[in-house]
Amino acid sequence: MELDNTKETNGTTPRKRENGLRLRPVLPDASGVGLPYAPVDWPKKGDVWTWKVGRRVAITGHFLDRYLYPPKRLHNLLNSGRKRGLASKLSVERYVQMAFPDADINAFFASFIWKIPAKKHSLTNVARAIFVAPSEELADLSVTEPQYDGLTCKAGNKKCNSLFAESESSSLVPLPCDLCCDEPHFCHDCCCILCSKTIDLNYGGYSYIKCEAMVDGCVCGHVAHLNCALRCYMAGTVGGSIGLDAEYYCRRCDAKTCLVPHVTRLLKTCESIDSPDDIEKILNIGVCILRGSQKTNARVLLNHIDSAITKLKCGTSLGDIWKVKEIDSAISAGVLHNGIEELEPSNHQDSLDSGPCLVSVLSISSDYQSEYQKLEYEIDQVLQALRKAQESEYKIAEERLDAQKNYLRNLYEQLDKEKSELSSRASGTEADALLNAILNRVDQIKQEVMKLKEMEEVANGFGRTPKGTLKKHFGLEIED
Ligand SMILES: [Zn+2]
Ligand SMILES: [Zn+2]
Ligand SMILES: [Zn+2]
Ligand SMILES: [Zn+2]
Repeated sequence: MELDNTKETNGTTPRKRENGLRLRPVLPDASGVGLPYAPVDWPKKGDVWTWKVGRRVAITGHFLDRYLYPPKRLHNLLNSGRKRGLASKLSVERYVQMAFPDADINAFFASFIWKIPAKKHSLTNVARAIFVAPSEELADLSVTEPQYDGLTCKAGNKKCNSLFAESESSSLVPLPCDLCCDEPHFCHDCCCILCSKTIDLNYGGYSYIKCEAMVDGCVCGHVAHLNCALRCYMAGTVGGSIGLDAEYYCRRCDAKTCLVPHVTRLLKTCESIDSPDDIEKILNIGVCILRGSQKTNARVLLNHIDSAITKLKCGTSLGDIWKVKEIDSAISAGVLHNGIEELEPSNHQDSLDSGPCLVSVLSISSDYQSEYQKLEYEIDQVLQALRKAQESEYKIAEERLDAQKNYLRNLYEQLDKEKSELSSRASGTEADALLNAILNRVDQIKQEVMKLKEMEEVANGFGRTPKGTLKKHFGLEIED
């Protein structure tokens, strides 16, 4: 569907008729009731919608931040996370379709103007508004970066999400932040809060997560690479005090975000990629996120990804990897539904939650071939791991036994030397002392030989060697 049915308005000629409505440029933070920027008498006569703009202005002369508020009587239909109103065309569309399934969405959007032009004198502020950085820094940036042309964000990123008006969450009011956001070249829209490097928007931005938690009416909006988050135990399933179950923990605002919808999107993205290597890389992130989760939809999804990876490894053609049995697609539809839909009435969700459990059981027997391939792959992995474990045990044993052997050889050599010294001195206090030393040496050798005998029990494998021996002689702590 064509979403953008308002025509582009040139910033230099803001006064222009559109849809028969007169466009009145407004100041930053302005708000208003009804036409031209919000619908009236919709859906019922007397219903008046309100609008509000933020401070940022796009290069086209329109406000980047633009909110639409439904009439008061419909407020209870808004999700609690959307107290600030609907911030993008997409969220308006979802809201309208959820609340009024029969409504003509095109007619709805045609009844008012979506893009709100900024007043002339606020246009002179365009660069500053978009750069956010103080003006000295602007000058600085253009000197240090010779290829600089056109708009970039504070981090010097031309592709930063904050520069695009239609990006849903970037048009919400950002959380004031004096941690990372005070740094001169840090942009919370495109710099990872864990490594400070910019995020990559390739393949639908699968590699990063944006925190969309609302804090005191502002959106957190900080982003992080998923790999960074996984490495820091801030994503996936993590025990302990953080306690995550297929979630992301934002270090900036302490909010947790469920990552199942992200992985669902990531899987969808893979269907349109034609590089097996890239697909595998993306799927592996999905696996790391979902592994160990107790959530039913996460486990079903993981099952799905595992089978896709197996097929990929077996050289299945890319088209066939995504072909799933009907029952599987029913599950994934359920997962997608639970995951992505935001404006769903909550009772609907409940009825879906109880469903997938049974369905996931059914799916295990429904696709025995892929299950079998999976088992094969799993066993292969186990055997490889066993071989590795045995190799490392062998190495440890070899090292320690050799060391003990060398130690004993030194002791024997020492004993020989002491004996020959004694034979050259027949009597006297010196001879007595030497004799004592020799007796001690013999005791020492006896003890070390006993130790070696204990160590030799590893011949049966570390698994059958007493734990005390492993700990004492091989430095291995084995837990029960
Ligand atoms: Zn920040
Ligand atoms: Zn940026
Ligand atoms: Zn990072
Ligand atoms: Zn956050």
